[in-house]
Amino acid sequence: MPNDLRTELYVNAPSAASEDARYYEEYARPETARMLRVLGLEIAFTRAEADTLTWSDAAGREHAALDLLGGHGACLLGHNHPELVAEARRMLDEQAPVHAQLSLRPGAGRLARVLSDQVRDWTGEECVVTLCGSGAEAIEAAIQLAELDRATRLREILAEFSARSHAIRRRVREGTCRIPEGFYEVLAAHCHAPGIRDLDDALFHWNRTVLAAFDRRPVFLALEGSFHGRTCGAVQLTHDPEYRRPFLGLGFPVVFLPPGDAPALRRSLEEQSFEYPEIDISLGDELELRTRTFSNIAALFVEPVQAEGGVWPLDPLYAAVIRQCADRVRFPVVADEIQSGLGRTGEFLASRAVGLKPDYVVFAGALGGGLAKIAALAVARRRYVPEFGRLHASLFSEDEPSCRIALKAVEIVTRDGGAVMEQCREKGARFLERLRQLRDKWPTVLRDVRGLGLLVGVEFHPQPKTSSRLLYTLSKQELLGHVIAGWLLHEAAIRVGRTLSHPFTLRLEPSAFVAPADLERFVEALDRLCEILKKANMYELVKHMVGLATPGARGRVLDFSQIRLLAEAPRFAKRVAFLGHFASPEHMALWEPSLYLMPRERLEEFFRKTCRVLDPACCDQFLVRSQTGEAVAVQFIGLSVTADNLAESMRARDLEWIQEKIESAVRLAKENGCTVVGLGGHTARITNQCRTVREGGVALTSGASLTAAMGVQALLEESRLAGIDLAQARLAAVGAAGNLAGTWAMILAESVPDVVLVGRPGSEDRLRRVASEICFEAYKAIRTAPAGTHAGVAGAIQGTKTIARTPARRAAQAVAAPWLPVDAVTTTHGPEAPGSDTAGLRASSVASAPRHLNAPS
Ligand code: PMP
Repeated sequence: MPNDLRTELYVNAPSAASEDARYYEEYARPETARMLRVLGLEIAFTRAEADTLTWSDAAGREHAALDLLGGHGACLLGHNHPELVAEARRMLDEQAPVHAQLSLRPGAGRLARVLSDQVRDWTGEECVVTLCGSGAEAIEAAIQLAELDRATRLREILAEFSARSHAIRRRVREGTCRIPEGFYEVLAAHCHAPGIRDLDDALFHWNRTVLAAFDRRPVFLALEGSFHGRTCGAVQLTHDPEYRRPFLGLGFPVVFLPPGDAPALRRSLEEQSFEYPEIDISLGDELELRTRTFSNIAALFVEPVQAEGGVWPLDPLYAAVIRQCADRVRFPVVADEIQSGLGRTGEFLASRAVGLKPDYVVFAGALGGGLAKIAALAVARRRYVPEFGRLHASLFSEDEPSCRIALKAVEIVTRDGGAVMEQCREKGARFLERLRQLRDKWPTVLRDVRGLGLLVGVEFHPQPKTSSRLLYTLSKQELLGHVIAGWLLHEAAIRVGRTLSHPFTLRLEPSAFVAPADLERFVEALDRLCEILKKANMYELVKHMVGLATPGARGRVLDFSQIRLLAEAPRFAKRVAFLGHFASPEHMALWEPSLYLMPRERLEEFFRKTCRVLDPACCDQFLVRSQTGEAVAVQFIGLSVTADNLAESMRARDLEWIQEKIESAVRLAKENGCTVVGLGGHTARITNQCRTVREGGVALTSGASLTAAMGVQALLEESRLAGIDLAQARLAAVGAAGNLAGTWAMILAESVPDVVLVGRPGSEDRLRRVASEICFEAYKAIRTAPAGTHAGVAGAIQGTKTIARTPARRAAQAVAAPWLPVDAVTTTHGPEAPGSDTAGLRASSVASAPRHLNAPS
């Protein structure tokens, strides 16, 4: 990478994305693009050369990044390798045919031959090669061919049985073959068909049993952690449930085996085999009955180096066991070298690097030299089913330009005695050695470093015990890998990515030509990153997300790791949770101390960016002990939003995401063993006082309910002390149009017979509704409990004519209907409400509810 670009002052503004790039979010991949924006990865690269990707920021400055993601392995020869570009140009200049279906295609022919030679070099077997347009398509082709192969094996057995049936009939008729004593009884037991009496009967049941036994769905084997693509069939073989689960219903049976576990593989062979009876006549002059087994396994798919699963090279001993098992049971072994093949591991075939002898090899990625979209399935000729050439083909495969570019890529990789592969081997070994030194330096940050050649994985420790709440949350939500990728891009101008199915592993796949100094630069950047993580300095980790990156900074990293905020509540205590949110962005610094280094407006920006993404987290827990000695552990669960964020969303009626956050906060409280959850701040309002929360199994309360309950308690206590007999009292609820006083009035109406609701002018409707609800509750109480047992308003109105005349079915219309004595409510705009000394209460309206209902019937 040119030095001037690397050292250029960083201008915070991600790429000056063109309108077209912005359309990417709107029309192409909305969710992914939004996530990129949150992570500060919304870059539109404008140029790619060798190991460098370039983009321009909003100020028009050019930035260059060392690309260690390398097109997920496709850029083994770097971006836009000059010889490949020249080959592509030549193809265009020569007007080479892209589409010439149903003709002989020289480029495809030569490429197939070259790949077959490469495979034969290791397996000793010549191949037939099917060309495809993408990795997953080649995997689909392998699935289909394996099933054709299995079906062909079955057909052969059935054809053999059919021929044998004829032979048996003929020979028994000729008298050259006898039916031994007890033969029919034994066959009947095999076929679960009692009462076989003659040869016709026997052959009929035998055929039926064999056909039934063979009428099974094929089973595929794959390894845990595997990634074979995301199309409908390939995704069935991809272990990660995130990709596979939504499409399980469209699939076929796959058994996932733990890699390296030979006994598990052998067990699955047993489990997928079934027995069927065979009648033999070849051995002598009488029919013989045998039991045969057939394996229903169509194929075993394996990556020589699991890439997306976290960069795990296959254990050579296990590779040998795979071959033994496949030979014994006769299923093909499919090596998926889409990411690892073509020399990246130091061998043309990654299978060779791990000692695996496959029957099929799938190439893609580097086969196109980083320019063409091309994949190939090479299949040992003896396993190829000729009709497959007709059954699997696609419009875009075998085009001359792609094939020629792939041929050139193979030539570059293999020429000069395989110098490119040698570079992968040597640079990879040195790089791994340096990374291992770092792992030893930061053992609590780096969990492992592994790889083969220039396919390298750096695994970080998850951080369940960190003192940093933000780090804990990022780790728990498996976002840490993405944030690290953002840090490396903005703070060190290095582009990396985490593996798709192993969120804590960064995958590094530079080109074979990468400068050793660039690899060293990555090691230095990783060293600083490890220090930041170790010191739990989240400001340093995330400041690039709000444009505060200081590329290449080397200064001291402040240590926040000793600040422990999260006290462990004793496990034995009863647990309750309180949900809340930040009142303002600065409060995030109380939650995450290192963020106090961030200026307020940047904190606000950080909030705005992350509030939809970060899940609620337990921010604090403490023990509350009452005077009775009982202890309760209170957990404070914080939604990472501010009151302003919420208010903004409430104004925009964009509440679904917040409701989902509240749901997951309640779920978290439940998982943490809490039995009661209080919804604080705006969360109660957003959920209509907890009413819209779906998560069950916990008691929910809101701040208002708590206050209401405490208010009632206080009133009861006060009146007791003042010697007031509630059964004779008259209650005035001031501000009864509001939630709190309205609720007090409703609760106390169970004890007090006469209630006056007081509210401001304009609140008459609301007051009437409260009055009506009080009456309705009283009505229900009268209807459900024996007469004479009622207190409060119910006691006052029981026995009135209105109540006696009101049928239950009309009660349902209670609130709106005039039938309830509520219509007797009067509203007067009169003198100040009793006790009111505020301007707000002057000219109040008084709604006196049950007083007028007292006339006895
Ligand atoms: N198998 C492996 C090992 C892969 O790495 C990939 C791509 N990441 C695929 C299959 C799928 O290939 P594609 O994305 O071209 O469909």
